[in-house]
Amino acid sequence: MSEIINIAGYNKYSTVDWPEKIVSVAFLQGCPWKCNYCHNFTILEPCKKGGLPFEYILDHLEKRYGLLDGLVFSGGEPTMQKGLYQAAKKIKNIEYTVGLHTGGAYPENLAKVLPLIDWIGFDIKATPRLYKNITHNSSALDNAKKSINLVLNSNVDVQFRTTIDPTVMKPADIKELQKWTQNLGIKELVLQEVRDMGVNEQYKKELQNLQSQNLLTK
Ligand code: SF4
Repeated sequence: MSEIINIAGYNKYSTVDWPEKIVSVAFLQGCPWKCNYCHNFTILEPCKKGGLPFEYILDHLEKRYGLLDGLVFSGGEPTMQKGLYQAAKKIKNIEYTVGLHTGGAYPENLAKVLPLIDWIGFDIKATPRLYKNITHNSSALDNAKKSINLVLNSNVDVQFRTTIDPTVMKPADIKELQKWTQNLGIKELVLQEVRDMGVNEQYKKELQNLQSQNLLTK
């Protein structure tokens, strides 16, 4: 039987992927972007088979009913997968809430699944000028802007956040980012420090070099 979504991994228990909720997290295979600091770069290739059956997740959630608050679709970029709507519907059918981590790379698929989503962790990558320097994708900014608009015009609970890549963004860029997001209508933008855990070796060296020069943004 072919799977409705391609799942690369599954975390059965997390308290950090949806604020104030205890959730399981499904990591979906594939992402069109190549962010410098990606710590999931081993699952970015979209055609690779993830190998974990969706039934396994449904079965686990049903057994833990009452102990977990919901399921988060993370990635990779979950909206890359056409079957996301169907998968989210199945999670709702067993009476779980659904969270979504996205950078907004696929606004059309996001629009389709949005009515089924209870909470979104939306990653804004940078100021418009620097979007491509982080994602290495020329359509990333346009798609992210469309997706941000969709989310802002929906009733879905959302946390907008930015991981600050100190190899690209400097303090003045952070100020520019805050101004831009405020102008878009985003009331709060959570800034996160980049972690070197799981990033590729070259990027890790760049970070260490910056640390030794004491240039890391705090
Ligand atoms: S959007 Fe997320 S999964 Fe995709 S490359 Fe960037 S950090 Fe990695």
